[in-house]
Amino acid sequence: MSRSHSTSALIVVDFQNDFVNGSLTVPNGVDIADNLNLLKKHKLFDLVVLTIDWHPHGHISFASSHPGKKPFESIEVSYGTQMLWPDHCIQDTEGAEIHSSMHVSHKDIQVKKGYNPMVDSYSGFLELDKKNKTELDDILKKHHIRDIYVTGLAYDYCVKYTCLDGIAFGYNVHLIEDAAKGITPDGVETATKELEGAGVKLVKTQQVLNR
Ligand SMILES: [Zn+2]
Repeated sequence: MSRSHSTSALIVVDFQNDFVNGSLTVPNGVDIADNLNLLKKHKLFDLVVLTIDWHPHGHISFASSHPGKKPFESIEVSYGTQMLWPDHCIQDTEGAEIHSSMHVSHKDIQVKKGYNPMVDSYSGFLELDKKNKTELDDILKKHHIRDIYVTGLAYDYCVKYTCLDGIAFGYNVHLIEDAAKGITPDGVETATKELEGAGVKLVKTQQVLNR
């Protein structure tokens, strides 16, 4: 049974080998594992969802798919500016598996994103062209979830976009800031301002454990 006053879900964004210790490592990303495990252990949430970045070979977000381009350059695509990344989280490879430092329960629901070859998906809810939804919103609605607590990698990309779409989809969104890590300090600072401006509440793990 949940101690929360309304139904809530913990969302762990992309805690996968390639982001924790692989081709697109988020600095110190592994450090959030302890907090993720604490948050999961205390059964505070009605639902735990793990988003999984799940790209086919040759994905549009890979620099290797665009001759002459390097990772961390950007290109213009039909839905706007696309940052290019090293190949990462390729379907059915070790890099796409959840990192072993986080305990996974059989009750955790996994939601895949980024499987469309021609569109990237930072958000757990919606692809970057804002057209196609993942399963996340339907799963949360089916469980009558009103509050989501977002954690994971990377703060300045997939965590940020998941939070912003969470607001757009009508959820109360809480970002557990010491259970998320970003790619750059500047990126985190900018993202934080944007998130607070959008109505995302920033909280710490201990506050959530004590609520
Ligand atoms: Zn990706």
